[in-house]
Amino acid sequence: MYSEKIRLGISSCLLGNKVRYDGQHKYDSWLVEQLGLYVEYVPVCPEVECGLPVPREAMRLVGSAENPKLITINTKIDHTDRMKNYSEARIEKLAREQLCGFVFKSKSPSSGMERVKIYPEKGGAASKTGVGLFAREFMNTFPLLPVEEEGRLHDPTIRENFIERIFIVQRWYQLLNSTPKLKDLIQFHTRHKLLIMAHSNEHYRLMGKLVATASGYPPEVVQKQYFELLISALKRTATRRKHQNVMLHILGYFKQDLSAEEKAELINIIEKYKEEHYPLIVPITLLNHYVSKYKKPYLEEQYYLNPHPMELNLRNHV
Ligand code: SF4
Repeated sequence: MYSEKIRLGISSCLLGNKVRYDGQHKYDSWLVEQLGLYVEYVPVCPEVECGLPVPREAMRLVGSAENPKLITINTKIDHTDRMKNYSEARIEKLAREQLCGFVFKSKSPSSGMERVKIYPEKGGAASKTGVGLFAREFMNTFPLLPVEEEGRLHDPTIRENFIERIFIVQRWYQLLNSTPKLKDLIQFHTRHKLLIMAHSNEHYRLMGKLVATASGYPPEVVQKQYFELLISALKRTATRRKHQNVMLHILGYFKQDLSAEEKAELINIIEKYKEEHYPLIVPITLLNHYVSKYKKPYLEEQYYLNPHPMELNLRNHV
């Protein structure tokens, strides 16, 4: 099921490469040893790739949050143009890589995705309002691609959502690479129905409408709009209440199959999940059990029940 690895950009130091200003790395064991089983990383170190040595003088962002400069801390050398020129060229190459997302190193004036320190030109305290120059260019060029920082990925909810999104983007690329017909888009939509509903019913309805009227429009136009809606749906948090609604919807498929006690037990477990007594994996495991026991082809195909590899244990903590 997960034979094709996901291509994911990553700040090179997170893989253990000694590319930091001090000659060290920032190895992240979860990213490398666990997620790495399913991912082909495309490492990027903007500072080394733009021609700076290891070790090198540390740099920081200086000036305004909208248009900061990248300046070495002691010698005050301005590397802004060097970094901007490099970033443009590198991102042009990355556009051909079909990346499903990017994991950035936090706090870096080149790679940080948010809350990077910016110092006033004339000295004084820093504000945490900056974005690393490379990260900014990347996010401006690929506004729909999932991006995260390694620190934020320690939060189970953020982690689960990010991994869910990169797997969906991979499936989307697989669809596009197959030169899809309308029926393929409809199938994609159908298989993601419950997963989208767990994030946003509103988006699910809009996407359904788009697919239903798609035959009157050029495929590229429909695909572009569909992907935009998909990504914006997934950015909405899948709350426990929304999950509860989706799972009760699934329960409806077992009307003829479950005994009154089984139904009551399932409803109780879903309710306990909503009240934060259980993690999501508990009701989902029971639902998956019933899906395979009672052979429900429509549900078997739903990515909601298996959005990413179970071995990552992502639903054990949300
Ligand atoms: S944070 Fe970015 S620029 Fe700094 S060492 Fe890591 S990859 Fe290179």
